[in-house]
Amino acid sequence: MKTVILNKGKESKYMNGYPLIEEEDIYQHDTLQEGDLFHLRTSHDIYIATCYVGRQHKGLGWVLTYDESQMIHQSFFEDLFLAALEERRYYYHVDGTTAFRLFNGEGDGVGGLTIDNYNGHLLIQWYSEGIYTFRKQIIEAIKKVFNYTSIYEKTRFKHTRIASGFVTGEAPQFPIVVEENFTFYNVHLDDGPMTGIFLDQKEVRKKIRDYYSEGRQLLNLFSYTGAFSVISAHQAEQTTSVDLANRARHLTEENFGLNGIDPKSQKIFIMDTFDYYKYAERHGLMFDTIVIDPPSFARNKKKTFSVIKDYDKLIKGALPLLNKKGTLVLSTNHSMYSLKAFKNMVKQTMSQLGVEYHIDEVMGLPKDFKTHPHYKPSKYLKVIFITLMH
Ligand code: SAH
Repeated sequence: MKTVILNKGKESKYMNGYPLIEEEDIYQHDTLQEGDLFHLRTSHDIYIATCYVGRQHKGLGWVLTYDESQMIHQSFFEDLFLAALEERRYYYHVDGTTAFRLFNGEGDGVGGLTIDNYNGHLLIQWYSEGIYTFRKQIIEAIKKVFNYTSIYEKTRFKHTRIASGFVTGEAPQFPIVVEENFTFYNVHLDDGPMTGIFLDQKEVRKKIRDYYSEGRQLLNLFSYTGAFSVISAHQAEQTTSVDLANRARHLTEENFGLNGIDPKSQKIFIMDTFDYYKYAERHGLMFDTIVIDPPSFARNKKKTFSVIKDYDKLIKGALPLLNKKGTLVLSTNHSMYSLKAFKNMVKQTMSQLGVEYHIDEVMGLPKDFKTHPHYKPSKYLKVIFITLMH
């Protein structure tokens, strides 16, 4: 077994359960390749954990077990999958929902690996070359533990030539339709990096429909397939979806159609968000709920956008379009943008503008996106609902 020795003083961090082996904490290590197993040891040669090499973020790899005698083979993965399934039995019985996450990386015991269920069609996502080297055992374990009609995969590591796509089972015709909280969405499992719906926002979608849509004008920025608009359209006065990508128009229209909403009754703009701000101001358009859910980084023409640097500009642009007592739903999924920093940014921006507000809700990941208690970045989703006092 290969060995990685920690710097002095770093032992307790890992003994207390931190699951990602960070490069800067390492004193020395054997020659390591993606997918290698290694023992993490103290400078006094005490065993801490068995890990695998899978470079991600600042990490060299992830802890798999704290039991030195545990072998890492198919049945190791089966046991973890079974435990993950046990915790999600509930979701199989929830009325009106057929899509949810079955296995969530380090939260369920294997960093770098996720498995989602889209109405019986499973999607495996591999986040490093290292975890991908266990592909055969993992797929066999999935086949044994989970029910499925088909299995698909996506690789999420760079410099890869490995094709994503169909693995096994009965291939469906895409798009398939999934249901979530009695709303229908189209899903593609073999078309680019995204599937059509971000399952981690399910509780936020429901909250917006149930509390922030009734009779309202709703603006959905960075709308992608329109999920926030689609779930709200029946209650809302009208929804407006804005996205830069051309594909967003027909994907959004199709999702409206699936739910018996005439796409022509709703508005869709293929436009940069900041350009839309100018357009809306020029036309005197006003809204009661504005949802802002940008990507962490984006490039449009020569401009780059980074949530950590530029979120305040999104808020500043949205406020002139917000009616009295209106609500902003501010979302970010950047794992390195802490909730504290995000909240501070909101506070500072609002006080700079002299706008009084209160925080209605702070939401995060749903239970199926199980997080790791000792690894904060695993709680990457932060959504703050703020309502204007006047
Ligand atoms: N809110 C969406 C997910 C957003 S994904 C949902 O709930 O499903 C990010 C989206 O932002 C992508 O569809 C991308 O095309 C869009 N985007 C990126 N830069 C943009 C910009 N400057 N203006 C508008 N949309 C942008």
